[in-house]
Amino acid sequence: MATEMDSEIVNEPVGGKSGTRRALGFDLEAGVEGGMRSISPIDGCVLGHVHRNMPADAAGIAARAVMAFDAWRRVPAPQRGELVRLLGNELRAAKTELGRLVSLEAGKIEQEGLGEVQEMIDICDFAVGLSRQLYGLTIASERPDHKMLETWHPLGPCLVITAFNFPVAVWAWNAALALVCGNSVVWKPSEKTPLTALAVKQLFDKACQAFGAVPGDLVQVANGEREFGETLVADARFALVSATGSTRMGRQVAAAVAPRFARTILELGGNNATIVCKTADLELARRAVVFAAAGTAGQRCTSLRRLFVHESVHDELVASLKAAYRQIRVGDPLDGQTLVGPLIDRAAFERMQHALACAREQGGKVTGGERTAPEMGEHAYYVRPALVEMPSQTAIVREETFAPILYVMKFASLDEAIALNNAVSYGLSSSILTHDLRESERFVSALGSDCGIANVNMGPSGAEIGGAFGGEKDTGGGRESGSDAWKGYMRRMTTAINYGESLPLAQGVRFDV
Ligand code: NAD
Repeated sequence: MATEMDSEIVNEPVGGKSGTRRALGFDLEAGVEGGMRSISPIDGCVLGHVHRNMPADAAGIAARAVMAFDAWRRVPAPQRGELVRLLGNELRAAKTELGRLVSLEAGKIEQEGLGEVQEMIDICDFAVGLSRQLYGLTIASERPDHKMLETWHPLGPCLVITAFNFPVAVWAWNAALALVCGNSVVWKPSEKTPLTALAVKQLFDKACQAFGAVPGDLVQVANGEREFGETLVADARFALVSATGSTRMGRQVAAAVAPRFARTILELGGNNATIVCKTADLELARRAVVFAAAGTAGQRCTSLRRLFVHESVHDELVASLKAAYRQIRVGDPLDGQTLVGPLIDRAAFERMQHALACAREQGGKVTGGERTAPEMGEHAYYVRPALVEMPSQTAIVREETFAPILYVMKFASLDEAIALNNAVSYGLSSSILTHDLRESERFVSALGSDCGIANVNMGPSGAEIGGAFGGEKDTGGGRESGSDAWKGYMRRMTTAINYGESLPLAQGVRFDV
């Protein structure tokens, strides 16, 4: 019988030039008929076929997750941390191969593929320390001879749904915490990146072997299409659904989970802005903007999409950005000189071209945005990053288009720029470049940016695992990764203990019988 680990690496090109299948470095074998295809955006070739779960498979997966949870919650937290430490070691050893696989399947340049694996290693380290620090509070009681305390307990099976653009790191942000918190994990990867998930599962299995007695099915990788994901989400045995992807997906997940009052962590779309003030270091601004807007081909949730430049420095900065954009090398992400790889697929390319057409209609002056790198074949979609000078923040600017489009607008006062920053439905990331302390402090104050992330003198992308990651409004309100995000994966118990001989009631209530 096929399992979720079954897959087959094939060299069947659906088009484009060959060559993406070199050096996969993972043993993803065994035949799968009618499986899901993994297609490399690098040249449109099929990387492999993997087992496709159907909606009918969801119930069995949830049942196995419940059994694994029941066993794992009995293991002391520092021992759970030991398993995550071993996973981190496996990731260190396989960093090059896994990073390359991320590049092959998601189209990221190698540096970013490696960076994504480094993020997994970092969150494992964080979680190992956390496994000895799942602290609760001791609270002063108002009653004599009483004390109160808070204890954090494992929550239950966690369903983790991930997007194509961070095919492995987002799982790790969730799973490393969920595991030390005592939960089992079911991972529903993006249907566009099933192979990287299977590779990570192999590394996890190796860590389990080194650990010894790990309950079976503690982590399950469940590849499947959206309908399969919907069936998993609807299963009441999942105590937490942590879902990363589009706002459309998040609305569906939130609505499906709400009737049973289960927990969600939603990490959804973003339409991130940077404000460049008149005192900003424009050379720093140029570098920060180019990386944030063009890097990862604009396919980060935190990618910079809206740039507000003070009118006194606008023309100078735009000229230097245009010069920098001309130098960006777009092409094969496996080539060390490349800075921008492909879009994920044709639909992404079409959405980008549609957005640029709308921008033109709404008064925008577009530089770049055209298809390029024909040598990569007709089934791969490479574009020059686009810079669009807009007269104002029109309707298309307020939308998230998941592509390298940077809309540039002028502002006169900081209040105006902050209002523009906040005038979109999303609230993920933002940044300001200024040497004026009053401006930067205002931007990060309660009256400033309304986003979950607000950076100073850098771009909005490229978060570190130490902070809680996530955003407000249409971004979903969830927090993952560092700080106290672990509390989302545990249930809090408040306990009052009477160590006296009488029974005083709270609030001075008398009830004598
Ligand atoms: P997507 O919403 O198309 O898919 C994401 C995942 O959700 C996939 O695994 C998909 O199968 C699943 N899915 C979709 N509908 C579902 C449903 N109704 N029930 C259950 N599962 C469902 O997103 P994508 O195109 O893969 O990723 C791009 C989007 O993700 C962008 O909007 C980006 O901003 C966002 N994103 C956000 C973050 C963040 O942390 N905020 C991180 C990465 C990506």
